[in-house]
Amino acid sequence: MSRNNSTINHQPSTISFSHFRADFPILSREVYGQPLVYFDNGATTQKPTCVLETIQRFHNEINANIHRGVHKLSEESTREYENAREVVRSFLNAQKTSEIIFTSGTTASINLVAYSFGEVFVHQGDEVLITEMEHHSNIVPWQLLCERKGATLKVLPFDDNGELMLEKLPELLTLRTRIVAVTQVSNTLGTVNPVREIVRLAHSQNIPVLVDGAQGVKHGIVDVQQLDADFYVFSGHKIYGPTGIGVLYGKEEWLDRMVPWQGGGDMIATVSFRKTTFNELPFKFEAGTANYIGAAGLATALNYYSNIGIDAATAYEDELLRYATQKLTQIEGLKIFGTARSKAAIISFLLENIHPYDTGMILDKMGIAVRTGNHCTQPVIDHFGIDGTVRASLAFYNTFDEVDRLVEALLKVKEMFR
Ligand code: PLP
Repeated sequence: MSRNNSTINHQPSTISFSHFRADFPILSREVYGQPLVYFDNGATTQKPTCVLETIQRFHNEINANIHRGVHKLSEESTREYENAREVVRSFLNAQKTSEIIFTSGTTASINLVAYSFGEVFVHQGDEVLITEMEHHSNIVPWQLLCERKGATLKVLPFDDNGELMLEKLPELLTLRTRIVAVTQVSNTLGTVNPVREIVRLAHSQNIPVLVDGAQGVKHGIVDVQQLDADFYVFSGHKIYGPTGIGVLYGKEEWLDRMVPWQGGGDMIATVSFRKTTFNELPFKFEAGTANYIGAAGLATALNYYSNIGIDAATAYEDELLRYATQKLTQIEGLKIFGTARSKAAIISFLLENIHPYDTGMILDKMGIAVRTGNHCTQPVIDHFGIDGTVRASLAFYNTFDEVDRLVEALLKVKEMFR
């Protein structure tokens, strides 16, 4: 079934993004003799040539450890790293570079906050509020904290469309709630959560909020001042940047009062066997040799994404999502999980009673990369009483024709299991 003879009249995008595909070398490879269709962008995105070149240029021309050298290379390396911090600050519209901490990714950023904030502000009998649709990395660090401190983990549920039950939020925000942690976009259901509204409600009771931006950071422009979240975290590899680099944005008023997470070089001011004093922000939270080359790669990725137009890319992905949703729902026996009114380009589904793993394996043989399983959100899968889903997560470099290929392939899978 190709787009031409389909019954769907999708409105072709006013902006074409297909020419950007040439920026991503991997997109031109074949898998099992078929042109690759990469629909696993929720797990990680592909990297444009400019990011790959930054990494190579850094290794070839600059590489030296940062912050500690008096020599030219170290000075240049440090400058690139601190420039990257400024690029992230500007990308998020944070007030100060001291509020931008480089970590290894979203998971590390959340663990940092759960430990460093938790040590100071969470005590026996207190509560931490998360939601039912969190990624394991926004569940387990809080669980560990609650166990350590004798606190309670509370959960805001979602309904069968995959929308948070916001009406339950006021009763869950109590005098004992110390922090709320919520994902901006669900990596399994695609739901775009009303995080601004959640921040507003929590702040009305002086409760800080951590927003997990792992999936949300590439869905529209993020402005942390406008969002007013106390912490915002994301991973470089999910926004066209390198792996092993991520960001914790935190309001200075919180970061200042939090204890260090890891000890080591760079995070100290003075060390003696009697007492150690800590460096100022953001270095207090950056122990050891930082991933300075990753940071430079991330800065290139953020500049690249900004230059192509984040709002336009998001609008295009939204069109792809609408088109894919229409086409997939036309397949008899296909059920989509996550039908929220506001969604990012992530579609979880099951095809008849075919195990998601089988569907994924066969799609792979046809050159189509999707993810199968619980997507590190076991409570979401449990909510629906299923074993897992097949997840297609799209990016601006995907095309309507690739969606057609997915639909055709799924019809073949159905045929094979008939
Ligand atoms: N949060 C969400 C919503 C995610 O989708 C992911 C990864 O898929 C993470 C957190 C963890 O990100 P990372 O593995 O890059 O630390």
